Amino acid sequence: MRYKDKHQLAAEWKTLIERTPGPLRQAVETLVEYHRDLFADRFYGIMLEDPHASLFLSNDQVQQRLNPSMRRWLSMMFAVDHTDFVALVEHQEIVGQVHARIDLPVNLVLNGARQLKQAFYEQINASFESPFSPGEASVYVSDHIDMAMEIMSHAYSVASDRNVRTEEAYKLFSLTQSIGDEHERQRSSLLSWENALMFAVAAQHGAGALPRLANSEFGLWYFHKACHAFEGAPEIATISWHIQQVDGEWLQALSSGDATQRLKALSDIRDAARTILMLLDDVLERASGLEAGRDSLTRLLNRKFLSVVLNREINIARHSEKCFALLMVDIDHFKSINDTHGHDAGDNVLQQVASILDRSTRGGDYVFRMGGEEFLIVLVDTDHDGSRLFAERLRQSVAKEPVLAAADTLLNVTISVGITLHDGHPDYQHSLQRADKALYQAKRSGRNRVVVH
Ligand code: GH3
Ligand code: MG
Ligand code: MG
Repeated sequence: MRYKDKHQLAAEWKTLIERTPGPLRQAVETLVEYHRDLFADRFYGIMLEDPHASLFLSNDQVQQRLNPSMRRWLSMMFAVDHTDFVALVEHQEIVGQVHARIDLPVNLVLNGARQLKQAFYEQINASFESPFSPGEASVYVSDHIDMAMEIMSHAYSVASDRNVRTEEAYKLFSLTQSIGDEHERQRSSLLSWENALMFAVAAQHGAGALPRLANSEFGLWYFHKACHAFEGAPEIATISWHIQQVDGEWLQALSSGDATQRLKALSDIRDAARTILMLLDDVLERASGLEAGRDSLTRLLNRKFLSVVLNREINIARHSEKCFALLMVDIDHFKSINDTHGHDAGDNVLQQVASILDRSTRGGDYVFRMGGEEFLIVLVDTDHDGSRLFAERLRQSVAKEPVLAAADTLLNVTISVGITLHDGHPDYQHSLQRADKALYQAKRSGRNRVVVH
C-alpha cells in the first residue's frame, strides 16, 4: 500500500494545526523563540549521554552544525504563519534521509523527540496562564512533533531500505566480480545434475528417488543467491517456472511406465536445462555490464555503490585509527580534445586515463567514474602526507605519459586533483563536497595541480 503523498500530508498537517486557535499558536511561537537554545541544548545534552548516539554526534563539525540546525527546525516548525505546508513536509523528508544516510538509529531520533516534548511541557506549565490552556498548548506541540516524526520516519525507512538493498547488491557484486567464473561454475553444476538424473533414470529409480533440480547445487545457488541478486530481472520468473516444471510434472513422467511419455519427458527436461542456461547467460551478461556497478567505457566503478563504499569506510574509520582520503580527479580541458579530435578520440583518452588511475591504486582502494571526465579515488589507510604524495605522483604519471587518442594522434593530457581527508563526519556528502571544493581550487589556480582541502 502506498504511503500518503506530500500533498495529502501537507493537508493533514494544515488541518491539525488550524484546530488550535491562532493566539495560542502565537504564544507557543513566542515560547519557542525564547527557549529554543535551551531546547536544543537539552536535546543534544541527552543524546550525547547515550554512548550509541555520541558515536554519531561527537564530531565537532556535527555539533557546530546540528545545534543551529535544530534551532532553525524549531523556529520553522512552530512559526504561526505557515503558508507552504508541502515545503514543511519536504523538510522533514530531507531530515529523515540524512538520518538514514548516516545510519542514525531511528529509536534515538524518537527518544530525542520525546525529550523535546518533555522540555516543552515543562516550559508550558511554568509560563502559560489564562486565557491559554497549558493542556491545549501541550496537545498542539505534541501533535506537531508527532506529525514531523511520522514523515521523518517514513522517509528514513524508505531510504534505509534502499541502502540495505544496495548493500546487498554490492555484496553480490563483489562476490560475482568474475562473472565469467561464476557462469562456468553454474553451467557445470547444472550439467552435473543432468548427468545424475540420467544415471538415476538408467538405474530405474522411482520418481521419489530422482534428483530434484531445486535441491541440486545449481538449484541452491539459484534460489539462495541468484533469485535475490537478480530480483526483478524478467528472466528470473521464467527460470523459476522451468525448475518447477522439471521437478513437478516431468520427473513424475520419467518414472511412469509409458516409454513414449518417458522419452518426451527426457527431451523436455533437456530443453528446459538449455533454456535455463540461456536465460542465465542473459542475466549474468547484464550483471557484468553497467547494472552491476561498472562503467562500460572505462570498466571503473560507477556511482551505484559509492554510498555503500563510503559508508563502509566511514564505519571502519569510526572503529579504528585508520583514515581514508577522497581524491576528486578531473581531466583538464577535456572538451577541447573532443572538439579538436572528435568524440571517439575523447573516449580513448578517457579509457587510458582511467587505466592509469586504476593501475596506480592499491588493491584496497577504489576508483569511481563519477561522470564525464571526472573520477573519484577512495584511498584507504592513508594520511595527509600519504594522500598528497600519491596524488602528486598520479598527476605526474598522467602528465608524462602521452595517450593515444587515435591511430596517429598522441596527446599530452593533464589532470587536476582535489583531496580531502576524512574528518570523522558521519555524512559522506560532506567529504565529497570538500573534495569538490579542493578540485575547484586546483582548476582556478591553473590546472595540472593537486590541492588539499
Ligand atoms: P576543465 O579543465 O575546467 O575541467 O575543462 P573541461 O573541458 O575538461 O571540462 P568541461 O566540463 O567543460 O567539459 C567536459 C566535456 O566532457 C564535455 C562533455 O561533452 C565531455 N564528455 C562527457 N562524457 C564524455 C564521454 O563519455 N566521452 C567523451 N568523448 N566526452 C565526454
Ligand atoms: Mg575537465
Ligand atoms: Mg569535469
